Amino acid sequence: MCGIIAYVGDREAQPILLDGLSRLEYRGYDSAGLAVHTAGGLRVQKKAGRIAALSAAVARQPVSSTSGISHTRWATHGEPTDANAHPHLDQSGNIALVHNGVIENFHELKQALTLQGHVFHSATDTEVLAHLIGEHYEKLATLSGVARLSAAVRAALGEVDGTYGIAVIHRDLPNVVIGARRGSPLVVGIGATEKFLSSDAAALAPYTQKVVYLKDFDFVTLQPGQFDLQNLGGRDTDYEIKELDFKPEAAEQGAFAHFMLKEIFEQPETIRNAMRGRVDKDTATAHLGGLNLTGEQLRDLRRIIVLGCGTALYAGMVGKHMIENAALLPVETDFSSEFRYRNTPLENDTLFFVVSQSGETADTLGALREAQRKGHRALGICNNVGSTIARESDGGVYMHAGPEIGVAATKSFISQATVFALLALKLGRLRHLSASAGGEIIEALEKLPAQVEVILQQSDAIKNIAEKYADSRSMLFFGRLGNYPVALEGALKMKEISYLHAEGYPSSELKHGVIALIDKKTPSVVIAPHDSLYDKNMNSLQEIKARCGPVICLTTCGGRDTGHLADEVIKIPQTLELLQPILNVVPLQLLAYHTAAALGRDIDKPRNLAKSVTVE
Ligand code: GLU
Repeated sequence: MCGIIAYVGDREAQPILLDGLSRLEYRGYDSAGLAVHTAGGLRVQKKAGRIAALSAAVARQPVSSTSGISHTRWATHGEPTDANAHPHLDQSGNIALVHNGVIENFHELKQALTLQGHVFHSATDTEVLAHLIGEHYEKLATLSGVARLSAAVRAALGEVDGTYGIAVIHRDLPNVVIGARRGSPLVVGIGATEKFLSSDAAALAPYTQKVVYLKDFDFVTLQPGQFDLQNLGGRDTDYEIKELDFKPEAAEQGAFAHFMLKEIFEQPETIRNAMRGRVDKDTATAHLGGLNLTGEQLRDLRRIIVLGCGTALYAGMVGKHMIENAALLPVETDFSSEFRYRNTPLENDTLFFVVSQSGETADTLGALREAQRKGHRALGICNNVGSTIARESDGGVYMHAGPEIGVAATKSFISQATVFALLALKLGRLRHLSASAGGEIIEALEKLPAQVEVILQQSDAIKNIAEKYADSRSMLFFGRLGNYPVALEGALKMKEISYLHAEGYPSSELKHGVIALIDKKTPSVVIAPHDSLYDKNMNSLQEIKARCGPVICLTTCGGRDTGHLADEVIKIPQTLELLQPILNVVPLQLLAYHTAAALGRDIDKPRNLAKSVTVE
């Protein structure tokens, strides 16, 4: 988490840093700060709260400067206060550092430095790294200028355990920024007379289209007219200058009250974008060239394991149902964070899919590396082109969903689920699925965008339901098979943005414990499309009603009417059972959105969260 942006060039640095931070704010927003070179030394300003608070402080006392570093924080160590905000200074006050990641051995280092007389002003792990760089800098008095600062940063990084993406400046080296990464993303932006360093290429789009994505252990020195990229050991390293394919207007909010609502309404297009050019009607299959696997290799697979965190994992669980049904291939799903530390028995011919919108999720990146370390091929399903997971995986499928700014993921779920549907189709057609069944899936996939439009037209009706139940303390979500992960996702959205307690369960689990929670004030959302388990879902609904629990029933048009059984009914179009979860998630996103709006929550930046989870 957290966003870093640094600048060296010939323009005023402060406005560029603040603008960059505002584009990175989705990564963390509990506090922010910047440090710039001025004629009188370093000027550091830090503020708890949103970037607006920092901007106001800078506006009160602006300074002229053409280089500096800045940071928007998602705290791991130490509360969000002015003192804990980045940048952090070394003991001399001459070196300033911003950091994304966690210094795991900070406690030991802090004790040792304290014994040497260092005095700390924050509770962060980051400040320890700043002091460690300063300590080495003092000892390297035989060197001077950039060489001395570089050597000090390298020496300090050699002593830390954990993860970092950093930007460092020294008061005596105006127009020089040093950056390094291990585990946390960083990208260099290249202009003729200016250079940038950012946690996310998207923040650089208004300034330059030329970028270099740093790899782990890269070490970069930026100056206005040049940049020097080596590895941590001081050796030159290969890099590629990439052209950004990003339209800044895609990240604008438009007429919508929140990015989240805009992104919910974009979903018909999201589905089209995930499918574009990937469907072959003649052979009734999907083309997914990025898998880098032949038909024979895909046919030989014995198992698939899908890994992800939060929404991405739930999309993977929907994918499990799709692939198992269409291709009769066993699929397991797991939290990335659990898989990477477990002793998991793994057979040969197991293929991994790691799912991450940002392509930077630290736990999923760790899981990807673990799968590869054990000799397995791991493919990515990512949105962010050029992200670390996209680069390190053995292939994969891009989502092409465009920027997702709302912290609560919406269109990324639908995009990932659509990608899994295409995978299921492809794997199915290589195995058991007939051409006519493949053709039916394609036909149904093509109808999905228009069907999502029909659901979006019900936004106001869903708003009425949301307002009626917004004062509940808790809400339960039930669904079966492919709709069980949809229930989990509905509950997650509700928790994330409305702060209502919510849980998702398979409907059948109701009677095994959770039924004890049912009362007049605890609404249940029952996902009951007219599918093979409709009657079973209706039994669960009746069991809830028998205990006076209010029920919001999400069902499909046609088929038997449930209106008289539930307190509220949301009717949506019907598609194939395999694809129904893609439609069913949309009303639940709207329910969470309108509940949060009714409660006056900060929808695009919910408390305690950040979008891109780049720390463990
Ligand atoms: N560990 C650092 C802190 O708590 C950086 C956290 C981050 O990556 O945002 O300040």
